[in-house]
Amino acid sequence: MADALAAAGTAMFDDVLMAQKLPSDVVQRFNECLISGAPTPEEDQKVIADAMFAWARELGAVDFAHWFFPLRGGGGAVGGMLGAFKRDTLIDLDFKSAYVTKPMKACLPHERLFQGETDGSSFPNGGLRVTHSAAAFTTWDRSSPPFVMDKCLYIPCAFVTHFGKCIDEKTPLLRSMDAVKLYGLRLLKALGIGTDAQTMHSYLGWEQEFFVISADHFKARPDLVNCGRTLFGTLPTRHQQGDLNYFQPIPGKVQELLDTVQAEMLKIGCPMAVKHNEVAPGQHEMSPVFRTANVSCDSNVCFMEVMNREAAKLGLQVLFHEKPFAGINGSGKHANWSVGTDTGFNFFYPGKTEDGAKLYVTAIACLAYGLAQYNEMVRCTVAHAGNDHRLGAQEAPPAIISLYPGQGFEAFVESICAGGDLLGYKAEKKKQETGCSAAMHIEANVEDRNRTAPFPFCGNRFEFRAVGSSQNCCLPIMVCNAVMSAGMAHLAGLVEGGMSHRDAVAQVFKENKHVIFTGNGYSAEWPVEAAKRGLPNLNTTPKAVANWNTEKNKQLFDTLKIYTAEETEARQEVMYENYISCLCCEVETMVQMTEKGILPACAQDLDRFKGMDKLAGSRKTTYEAIADQLEKLKAVYLAKPTALADEATYLCDKVKPEMVALRAAVDKAEAMMDSRVFLGVGAEMGPHWG
Ligand code: ADP
Ligand code: MG
Repeated sequence: MADALAAAGTAMFDDVLMAQKLPSDVVQRFNECLISGAPTPEEDQKVIADAMFAWARELGAVDFAHWFFPLRGGGGAVGGMLGAFKRDTLIDLDFKSAYVTKPMKACLPHERLFQGETDGSSFPNGGLRVTHSAAAFTTWDRSSPPFVMDKCLYIPCAFVTHFGKCIDEKTPLLRSMDAVKLYGLRLLKALGIGTDAQTMHSYLGWEQEFFVISADHFKARPDLVNCGRTLFGTLPTRHQQGDLNYFQPIPGKVQELLDTVQAEMLKIGCPMAVKHNEVAPGQHEMSPVFRTANVSCDSNVCFMEVMNREAAKLGLQVLFHEKPFAGINGSGKHANWSVGTDTGFNFFYPGKTEDGAKLYVTAIACLAYGLAQYNEMVRCTVAHAGNDHRLGAQEAPPAIISLYPGQGFEAFVESICAGGDLLGYKAEKKKQETGCSAAMHIEANVEDRNRTAPFPFCGNRFEFRAVGSSQNCCLPIMVCNAVMSAGMAHLAGLVEGGMSHRDAVAQVFKENKHVIFTGNGYSAEWPVEAAKRGLPNLNTTPKAVANWNTEKNKQLFDTLKIYTAEETEARQEVMYENYISCLCCEVETMVQMTEKGILPACAQDLDRFKGMDKLAGSRKTTYEAIADQLEKLKAVYLAKPTALADEATYLCDKVKPEMVALRAAVDKAEAMMDSRVFLGVGAEMGPHWG
């Protein structure tokens, strides 16, 4: 790996490269503008574009592309929620030349680096752009460095309409990062802690789970190709019993894929930190070193793109869907998130100083406020068809959003509420003996892990565990930032109004501690207890999405300048549309596979048993049950209503059960069918075993 490490960051135009390639005053102004939000002066734009152009050419770039994340919905996609771009040439005509046939020249005009224009109506936009008023613009997210990949200079961008309305995932995230800055600094000022901070950042480190299977197997399955998950198929007799696959050696070909992708990601400035086998066969995970939230969201999308590309070269297929195979674990994307100052104050690190300790307690109070007051909003960010197979299914957190700050901390909250001091929480690591002389004692973390919680504390960050594997992280992290900002504004307001710091924290905990839960989130008792506490259990996407555009949510987004009311509405429309198109595609694929493959296979199989009723056993009735259930599914599907919310609810409540029944009927048949026949129709083949 020596070469790969040596190439670290060489294909990314980051701060280090800027310092090398640009005059220091240009760099300084550029960074000042990032903090103030002011436009980069035009003269500086020219200098930056020229330097970036020269650098990109050295790396062999022939094109450039504004790269952005259209509102393509929640998740459940085969290859993940990928970015959008159109490659533009770095060649232009020299119109200043005296020649009539204007000579060509390679260049990157500054206005093309900073802004692009395209058609916004062909991307999902929730009604914010229609065919007859379609213009939309890409504009460089100056806080995310461009990079060169595949001979193309990628410029990470925000995507907004002619009127500046966001129709992408990135813009609201960037706005939420501004909110964290505004309200975080306000809170620090109110508390008189860390007041030398100039700005605040939010950070993300994602843990990406995925399956890798053979590309040939993938292509033989219309359900995988169309929907990213198997719609039929019994469990193989060996699957994930005993969790033997977890952390096992990575199969050779997959190892080659992961190594290649790691090296590629490193070049473009994303150091992958971890790669390992996951619990289910064919399932793996990779995660990078955390970065500022927008840069990390960018690199996650890039990761999915690079994985797809490199897998294809090796005859492999990556499945980013949340639940590719029924009966074995699905995939998530834990989003490790924190907020902190430019001076190094991490709000979620208990710290060694008194100020650090007080800030930590205060920050958790803010987060508890945000999660309690805007519980449904947080739930919506992980609501989509793919995740409905996962959340609450004993392998992912429940659909109930709660906060796990640790059991010790929970007790400490009680002491604060009872009048105790803010400094009582002991954040020291705990020494535990191993009981043998060869292996030294361990330093256990302050708090144990809780993998059943949607929001567990992880030592210096919170881990939002409910995010789906195929999702873009922007929306969940945007909402983490939003609810945190709401909490920081609220608490700052109390202190500014004259309340003591201690009393303000105590009051916020008193009013919101019902969101804190440190028990077993997978237990049957928790939903009952959650209901008593008034915490919603929105266990399907349509139920969650119906709660997105409440007055309370619209008001918060508007106050924080993250979404206008219109943008909030648009986002809901996209969530519904995405859910509906996903479900419809699944139903139609199921119907086609049954009619064109499964029923003919049943007929063929029965034919072999002609005149041998005893040997045929229950085959006839089992196979006929498929035909009956298929007709039932078709009839129910045909009767679906058309209004968005009604359609989504109907698909969820009425159609999905019929899909489950059809799968059960087919899977029963598969288990008794001549293997030469069922392999012919491409039934469950199990993931790639290495
Ligand atoms: P786990 O042990 O939970 O599986 P991993 O090591 O796989 O954790 O991933 C943890 C992720 O959290 C990494 O991407 C890591 O860089 C990130 N991370 C660490 N500290 C922070 C922080 N303060 N803020 C955000 N992310 C962080
Ligand atoms: Mg992990």
